[in-house]
Amino acid sequence: MQTNGSLKEHMVKISGLTYPELKKWVTFDLGMKPYRAQQLFSWIHLRRVNSFHQMTDISLSARNRFEEICEITALETCNTITADDGTVKYSFTLDDGEVIESVLIPDPPRLTACISTQAGCRCGCTFCQTGRGGFRRNLRTDEIVAQLYGLQNGTDDRISNVVFMGMGEPMDNFPALRDALSIISDDRGICIGARKITISTVGIPGGIEKLTQLDDQYGLAVSLHSAVESTRLKLVPVSKTLPLRELKKAMKDYISRKGRRITIEYCLIAGINDTREEASALAEFTGDIECKINLLVYNPVEGAQYRRPEAESVNRFMRYLYPRCQAVMLRRSRGSDIAAACGQLGPAARND
Ligand code: SF4
Repeated sequence: MQTNGSLKEHMVKISGLTYPELKKWVTFDLGMKPYRAQQLFSWIHLRRVNSFHQMTDISLSARNRFEEICEITALETCNTITADDGTVKYSFTLDDGEVIESVLIPDPPRLTACISTQAGCRCGCTFCQTGRGGFRRNLRTDEIVAQLYGLQNGTDDRISNVVFMGMGEPMDNFPALRDALSIISDDRGICIGARKITISTVGIPGGIEKLTQLDDQYGLAVSLHSAVESTRLKLVPVSKTLPLRELKKAMKDYISRKGRRITIEYCLIAGINDTREEASALAEFTGDIECKINLLVYNPVEGAQYRRPEAESVNRFMRYLYPRCQAVMLRRSRGSDIAAACGQLGPAARND
């Protein structure tokens, strides 16, 4: 006899289907008219209902059928914490008990959702709390999308921007990321424009290239953290699989194909990558790349050996870069008092 759990496993995760996939499933697999796909997509991704019985323009028999064979994923919020600056960190429990974190960052007129793509991460960046907890599993498309809806449902303001900078390396879960991008930028749904969505990567082989192949102009942020190979290797161990030369080529291809500059993320860590030599290497590395450099100051994570640099050291680094780089910004760290800032997410409390 099947348990409820195993029955659920066989249900179609309908909120993880892109519009073309949904239309194909509705027409070919269920033999329904194509307009049903439009109705379903709009109910799930625009009005964001999570019960088929709320879909009042769909016949009762069709609603009953959907109820039997598919489900709309909604994540259970197990915790929310609000920082002094208004940043809200959400912890969501997945159906297998994994806990992931997502962050809502108000910065009027923008409201940005920071979304996770994996439970844990296999990249093991040595300054990152997620990396220290290891890899648990990839998130499914429906789980990635449901995070965004969980955040949107918790506020009256419309989420304007989405950044894939939460837990996990997005390019390491590319198929689910690609489909989530398609769903959230679809103008039949929540409709976050591609140019308002940024995917952040530390750079893994083939990752940026896959994003380059997509038609839309998503923003790309590369977490560089050092333009000196040996320092970068220490901070981002997976960089051994993608030397700086190859990373730079992938970045330049992306810029020329998409016609928009990229962002370079650089987390300043005292005595590691905040020196004059590091600043010089960064200026040289980025000299022929159309980019904006976002500097952020390291947020200490429990048990890590790194320190936050002094303000003077940060200023010195910036003063060196300003005349030599196209655009440099010191990014305000949001939510650091609730461990929602860059590199501070997870591993959250788990039930195993
Ligand atoms: S910084 Fe990003 S890629 Fe590196 S371990 Fe953390 S989550 Fe993974």
